[in-house]
Amino acid sequence: MINFTVGPVQSSDAVLAIGAEQVPYFRTAEFSELMLENERLIKKFAHTTDDSRVVFMTCSGSGGMETAIMNCLTKQDKALVINGGSFGERFVQLLTLHEIPFTEIKLEHGKALKPEHLAPYEGRGYTAFLLQKHETSTGVHYDINLVSDFCKRNGCFLIVDTISTFLCDPFDMAALGASVMITGSQKALACPPGIAVMALAPSALKRIENIKCCCQYLDLKLALKNQERGQTPWTPAVGVLRQINVRLKEIDAAGGDKVEIERTARLANYFRNKIKEYNLPFEIISESLSNAVTPLHPTTQSANEIFLKIKNEYGMWICPNGGDMKDTVFRVGHIGCLTEKDYDQLINAFLDLRDKKFI
Ligand SMILES: *Cc1c(COP(=O)(O)O)cnc(C)c1O
Repeated sequence: MINFTVGPVQSSDAVLAIGAEQVPYFRTAEFSELMLENERLIKKFAHTTDDSRVVFMTCSGSGGMETAIMNCLTKQDKALVINGGSFGERFVQLLTLHEIPFTEIKLEHGKALKPEHLAPYEGRGYTAFLLQKHETSTGVHYDINLVSDFCKRNGCFLIVDTISTFLCDPFDMAALGASVMITGSQKALACPPGIAVMALAPSALKRIENIKCCCQYLDLKLALKNQERGQTPWTPAVGVLRQINVRLKEIDAAGGDKVEIERTARLANYFRNKIKEYNLPFEIISESLSNAVTPLHPTTQSANEIFLKIKNEYGMWICPNGGDMKDTVFRVGHIGCLTEKDYDQLINAFLDLRDKKFI
């Protein structure tokens, strides 16, 4: 099977090899050193300030989203949240659950974020802003500079879910003045699922210090204290953290985040150009694309039927959509260990389906 979804994605051979090893005992100097190296490399690739910190939580990306809200926001906050798809909706649900006052900015699926969406909230006492930098469900890459400028003008604490855009599109946490960045092990880090990575700026560290987190397992005070010596309060996903280490070092050796982003962009453009070149019956639905994924609306067949056909008859996974987009949108990812040859195989499958009048 070739995997073109947006997570879990294909891992490199070196990452796979770690997965085949026994999981070592982890309360050791060797594991601590590895964890501190993971922190250093995440800080480097996320372009944080020197005094920022990174923690590795054993949970999926959604656990990182909830951890950020539980540790950094209170009922005294007044938050703004962008909701343009299922991950924005998840932030809305979490804010509701944790009783954080908020206003949601609802965007139509596929639409870009524009200055007029933010203008009504200027100078209205908002204290926090939450968004996906890339709303993976619709493949819309939001204008983070617009949000960063708004937050700087209005003094908002900025929480950015970069789960599907970290290492795919440029992200400079320090320049944006973001307080919290969240990513996950199974997206562009191309490791198995199980770890949420959180980069925390000094503004976040200050809030964490002063806010009581009503969940022991996800308490960032404990995670930060332990990570000072490269440890975690509880048994972490040790194997995945070792795989993350191998992967971060691979990226570093190849030239860092910039080179990885360029590689992803090349694959995305290669695929998008082929779709056009062969005039396949798919429309790109997003006004603002990330390099991570291409969201496509098939004009002649149900998206889910195409997903099933490609899976069952051609041995490849493209990424289906759920809910009301089930039949109208499928996505093709560009993250993980993929090559142009893999895309040739996918394009050939689409051409074959067209010859057979399936699409
Ligand atoms: C994948 C993803 C998540 C988290 O998903 P999990 O299944 O909990 O790992 C959150 N936000 C975005 C933008 C994502 O792409």
